[in-house]
Amino acid sequence: MAKIEILHADHYLIPLPRALEDSMHGTMAGFEVVTARIRDADGAEGVGYTFTCGVNGGAIADILGREMAPRIAGRDADLTEAIWKDLWWAFHYGGRGGPTVLALSALDMALWDLKAKRAGLPLWRLLGGYDPRVPCYAGGIDIDLSPEELVDQTHANIAKGHRAIKMKVGRDRLSEDVAKIAAMRDAFGPDLPLMVDANMKYTVDGAIRAARAFREFDLIWFEEPIPPDDPAGHARILTEGGIPVATGENLRSLWDFKTVIDSGGVSYPEPDVTNCGGVTPFMKIARLAEAHHLPVTSHGAHDITVQLLAACPNRSYLEAHGFGLENYVTEPMVLEDGHAIAPDRPGHGVDFDWDRLETLRA
Ligand SMILES: [Mg+2]
Repeated sequence: MAKIEILHADHYLIPLPRALEDSMHGTMAGFEVVTARIRDADGAEGVGYTFTCGVNGGAIADILGREMAPRIAGRDADLTEAIWKDLWWAFHYGGRGGPTVLALSALDMALWDLKAKRAGLPLWRLLGGYDPRVPCYAGGIDIDLSPEELVDQTHANIAKGHRAIKMKVGRDRLSEDVAKIAAMRDAFGPDLPLMVDANMKYTVDGAIRAARAFREFDLIWFEEPIPPDDPAGHARILTEGGIPVATGENLRSLWDFKTVIDSGGVSYPEPDVTNCGGVTPFMKIARLAEAHHLPVTSHGAHDITVQLLAACPNRSYLEAHGFGLENYVTEPMVLEDGHAIAPDRPGHGVDFDWDRLETLRA
């Protein structure tokens, strides 16, 4: 039995090389990372982490360190389902969703890392094993860029090995978004897989209008056209707008995903392992999508998520997110000809450079 001895939480502020901007979160100069480190009685360690775009990292670290740590001490770390269910219900009344589920996501990820390390397997093999080569796209956070700057950025991403691109939309004038998408198609042709992401900017009718304006550009998907709380609105956008819809980075549970899938309002469910509750619910969401004949994509945290999509026969694209950890991990994600490669190291394969992170402690 892998008896849990200690859970340790840490909170860091990571500056971005260039401030990033989208339609609803404004300008982001940096992001928060909260880590959860679990050590078992044999001295084996599992690491999990979650992100924020600048708010509530301290609360998440407190929930992990002060509230969750004493509740899991002494438990069998292999019982990921039992620990997940007990914590979900322990925190349900005073903390369903929000920072609690981000904390639970980091903790659950640490348990799976520990389990895979103890098994001597990379996580993608432990979770089922499908294909370590996962199609990947560069997720730009770039609503502030001009059409020319967007094209330059895309050339740089293609030089890095990307073969698919997502760009932000949701400027105040729809014609500006259309001009930027047209510039991308002019520069890179009709075959570049291209997605757009509105970060919940629109009303339902506004999103239908935008989708119809985007239709001629043959987009892979239109992401988060509206806030997550309107499944029926998503269904209207998908049917009346006439292009595929992706959503999920602001859904916070397996049951949130069930609701939007049942509504018929999502073509590409898009869970984020750092905020949907961790590896345990992420894989259930992926299998739920599979049962509905839907491809599953992802949001954020690409270094770990490549392992999860490598275990899913219905995987679509992995997002290579703008909040990169490449300067803070010992072995950054490998990209080959448009595919991210899930490493074969035991565990989830994300090893933090703790000395480097220490200089950014919040
Ligand atoms: Mg998004």
